[in-house]
Amino acid sequence: MSGPRPVRAPRGTELSALGWQQEAALRMLQNNLDPEVAEHPDKLVVYGGTGKAARDWRSFDAMVRTLRTLKQDETMLVQSGRPVGVMQTHEWAPRVLIANSNLVGDWANWEEFRRLEALGLTMYGQMTAGSWIYIGTQGILQGTYETFAAVAAKRFGGTLAGTITLTAGLGGMGGAQPLAVTMNDGVAICIDVDPRAIERRIEHKYLDVRADSLEHALQLAVEARDARRPLSIGLLGNAAELLPRMLAEGAPVDIVTDQTSAHDPLAYLPVGVDFDDMASYAAEKPADFTRRARESMAAHVEAMVGFMDAGAEVFDYGNSIRGEAQLAGYTRAFDFPGFVPAYIRPLFCEGKGPFRWAALSGEASDIHKTDKALLDLFPENESLHRWIRMAGERVHFQGLPARICWLGQGERDKAGDMFNDMVGNGTLAAPLAIGRDHLDCGSVASPYRETEAMLDGSDAIADWPLLNAMVNVASGASWVSIHHGGGVGMGRSIHAGQVSVADGTKLAGEKIRRVLTNDPGMGVIRHVDAGYDIAESVADERGVRIPMREE
Ligand code: NAD
Repeated sequence: MSGPRPVRAPRGTELSALGWQQEAALRMLQNNLDPEVAEHPDKLVVYGGTGKAARDWRSFDAMVRTLRTLKQDETMLVQSGRPVGVMQTHEWAPRVLIANSNLVGDWANWEEFRRLEALGLTMYGQMTAGSWIYIGTQGILQGTYETFAAVAAKRFGGTLAGTITLTAGLGGMGGAQPLAVTMNDGVAICIDVDPRAIERRIEHKYLDVRADSLEHALQLAVEARDARRPLSIGLLGNAAELLPRMLAEGAPVDIVTDQTSAHDPLAYLPVGVDFDDMASYAAEKPADFTRRARESMAAHVEAMVGFMDAGAEVFDYGNSIRGEAQLAGYTRAFDFPGFVPAYIRPLFCEGKGPFRWAALSGEASDIHKTDKALLDLFPENESLHRWIRMAGERVHFQGLPARICWLGQGERDKAGDMFNDMVGNGTLAAPLAIGRDHLDCGSVASPYRETEAMLDGSDAIADWPLLNAMVNVASGASWVSIHHGGGVGMGRSIHAGQVSVADGTKLAGEKIRRVLTNDPGMGVIRHVDAGYDIAESVADERGVRIPMREE
């Protein structure tokens, strides 16, 4: 009888499958459920609410069994976390094809999804949970680092040194903000109502110090800013109270954002409510709590707009605080942009996105060797150098050692080729699984996040992720996935992913060169199609063919 048990990917070079492509899928599926990696491994939940790696334990066992016997010219089909067939294909075809959580448009809502899930017919795959390439919290840290690096590049000459960032929310994801700011050499004041959130971030070395008061926080921040010394400061309090006060007092803030859990009004503390009473009040009077939370968010967002009017760089960090403030009647809520149109889209135009790889040997030294090789390969890329150096010092591996960094079209294929050579010539102890998040330049349609405010209004067009998946299948990826609802929920996104295994063979090298050129190439063509100039120059420079520009 199958049931919950601890799962951990095997390490080393001994294969339990018929080849490294199948072995990699097997180890990455198991790695997603490693207790060091997954949030609730006994429920097969990896991260992001209920994002799962397999539908149920029986399906998990069937996938493991099948991957162990899968031949080099066979493909296992996975339907929402359950293996439903094995077909004869060919050596260039993916070993696994995955479709998770997809629903027909009119049925694409949480209620219907939960009904079908209760019948055992589907599962929520999030982005990298059901596609077996989640690598723990390194991903959010790197994404946040990259966003602040883009803010620095856009507005502050490439560094946050000498600037003060003001933000709130030191929770699971928002807790990456202080470290991401100091990694960019800036100063951050981070507000949270929960003293434990501040303590936890200090313990984990994501936050440097805790201030005793607002005045103390500002004094520490100004001293560090003037010395161009990175520093992150935790400040206990309600952002909806502190931001308006700081604005009124003319606090010298250069950048303002927010990562309180504003997407859920029952998780945002209204002004005038004690933190200790929050849970019981939200449970007993949800309507009343929601109204007051929204009113507080309106005050919070109004202060953010005030900082923007005073010249600060202000952006929404994907938590829906603008929408909630608007619901409370604040009319200027959308005066500042979301982070994707403001900073990330120019990177997407270059085919840049969250490239990642995991060492199937289980040896940290394999990742350290790839880190060094990557820095030698891209000697000019300062932001990459800073990230890799700091990640080497500060990131603790969870499960199989892994690394993430943002690379663009024209870079990922070079890195992948080099990694494959390093496996082939014995520099690395075993092959690497090279993949990415579904949140990438050409792989996702998500009008509230990745495709918010596209230049041509094509926010909700979902042909792109489907083409992305098909091109990766045609190019030789090891496994390819198409999911619905990751990140922002049912009905709101469609996205695709790929993982390619560098096993050191000539064949793997040929596949990797194609996949890692074409996959980020989708980002370039998607943004050329939407009318972005940067994408057009990148296409010209790198020879990405766009038929409609060849007339
Ligand atoms: P979380 O629930 O773990 O943490 C939220 C924190 O906000 C808590 O520590 C809470 O004490 C604090 N908080 C609540 N009300 C507050 C108030 N009035 N003043 C100050 N602090 C308050 O959430 P998380 O996982 O850190 O995510 C935070 C938000 O960011 C979510 O809305 C999430 O959807 C969003 N998010 C967006 C992206 C993205 O698009 N890049 C990535 C990750 C998270």
